[in-house]
Amino acid sequence: MTDTTLTNKLKLQITSLFWTSMDWLYPPRCCNCDRRGFVLCDECIMEIDPLRGTLCQKCGYPIDGKSRLCEDCSQHTPPYTQMRSWAVHSGPIQKAIHALKYKRNLAMGKILAQPLVDLVIKSKWQIDLVVPVPLSSSRLRTRGYNQAALITSYLAASLDVQHSANCVKRVRDTSTQIEMDVNKRFTNLLDAFYANPATLKKKNILIIDDVITTGATMQNCAKALLEAGAENIYCLSVARAILRHTKHHQGFASNSVLQSL
Ligand SMILES: [Zn+2]
Ligand SMILES: [Zn+2]
Repeated sequence: MTDTTLTNKLKLQITSLFWTSMDWLYPPRCCNCDRRGFVLCDECIMEIDPLRGTLCQKCGYPIDGKSRLCEDCSQHTPPYTQMRSWAVHSGPIQKAIHALKYKRNLAMGKILAQPLVDLVIKSKWQIDLVVPVPLSSSRLRTRGYNQAALITSYLAASLDVQHSANCVKRVRDTSTQIEMDVNKRFTNLLDAFYANPATLKKKNILIIDDVITTGATMQNCAKALLEAGAENIYCLSVARAILRHTKHHQGFASNSVLQSL
């Protein structure tokens, strides 16, 4: 174990101790059912819908039949090696992410990191470095923390892998994406990230986010890391938006925007 991972483990143990004392002083309530004594209770965890069945080998989106890749990945190969998510973005998991992101429920970071640890171990990915999808500096100032970085630090400590929240930065503020359609999201995110080549050369990197919606953020972040010399990029999120009643996950059709650069 390196000195850095040892320091990270120590920091997390202190943080855990702090939150355990806070839970004793002010018992939490389940973010989904309001049950006292839990951040997210066991019954609500059972209601979470993990992504299962046949998944696209590349982007991890649920697909029908015996195909290896989804339609979009067959047409335009994404820049990352593989992308996976734990659960469908709905019900208790949606509430849990909302609580972590907007209600300062920081203890949720540890709970949401655990299933990702299991997924990484199962995937057999060889990871050198774990990085969170960065927030813009103005968003980080307003929120005070990056929710993806919290998940990343617990995940990296459990896997005994280095993590860094500084080697990739969001250089343009792209915080107004919610109202944008898929194509606009991809265009809006072009060159939004900058990765520092000094720390990334030949590394296998795992990018962590709380939710993947169209995949535009992960694709552009992966692109910046590869341009900085990274070897392989793996993408992982707690939740995945399943775009029902639309032509599959049409986000990746917009790869043509990236490829036209
Ligand atoms: Zn509950
Ligand atoms: Zn795919």
